[in-house]
Amino acid sequence: MNIILLGPPGSGKGTQSQKLVEKYKLSHISTGDILRSQIANKSDLGSKAKNYMEKGELVPDNLIIEMVLKTTESIESILLDGFPRTINQALSLEKEMNILEKEIDHVLYFDVPFEDLINRLSKRISCKNCSKTFSKDDKEYFCIDGCSFQDLYQREDDKPSAISKRMDTYKELTEPLLEFYKTKDLLKKINANASIVEVSLEIDKILQ
Ligand code: ADP
Ligand code: ZN
Repeated sequence: MNIILLGPPGSGKGTQSQKLVEKYKLSHISTGDILRSQIANKSDLGSKAKNYMEKGELVPDNLIIEMVLKTTESIESILLDGFPRTINQALSLEKEMNILEKEIDHVLYFDVPFEDLINRLSKRISCKNCSKTFSKDDKEYFCIDGCSFQDLYQREDDKPSAISKRMDTYKELTEPLLEFYKTKDLLKKINANASIVEVSLEIDKILQ
């Protein structure tokens, strides 16, 4: 099974990914996580991507497409999180899937009102070890073994100026993908303005 998670920043794609990976034995490909680890490792790709990311802009298609398609080739069941984010990326993915004789089975669209997203993102804190995210409102932070409180930080692009830029970028470049996948009859809309458990149940109903 191959799945794409589509939705604005802060809509809960990462949180649900952690659950889906375990339940359905999928390989999680989060382009945001890959890019952040490239930046931490000071790789060539990381240094090219850093500026765009911190400003809330998209990293150029050519860099992203090459990065993703290199990994999808060898993977049986994929969970794509944060890719595709432009029509151009979607077309490249389609072409690659055709070559590999694979198919996208579902595109899960995480629907959340924009006001709620800004609120969620500005309260979001992330673990730099395992990428798990929490809210500043959470009473406790549970991470995998080895992570500690010192590993939690606010992402540069979760600061107010970058958040509004990311929302604009999403509306302009990513939102057109809704129509793209609707036409292909792959789009499944999920009410992501609900609790983590409720969203997870709604996804299960679609996948089972
Ligand atoms: P979020 O979904 O919360 O915005 P991500 O971690 O998915 O965060 O992405 C963070 C940043 O990484 C994006 O704002 C963008 O700069 C870059 N990025 C991630 N995926 C892509 C992509 N498919 N194409 C271009 N840039 C990307
Ligand atoms: Zn952690």
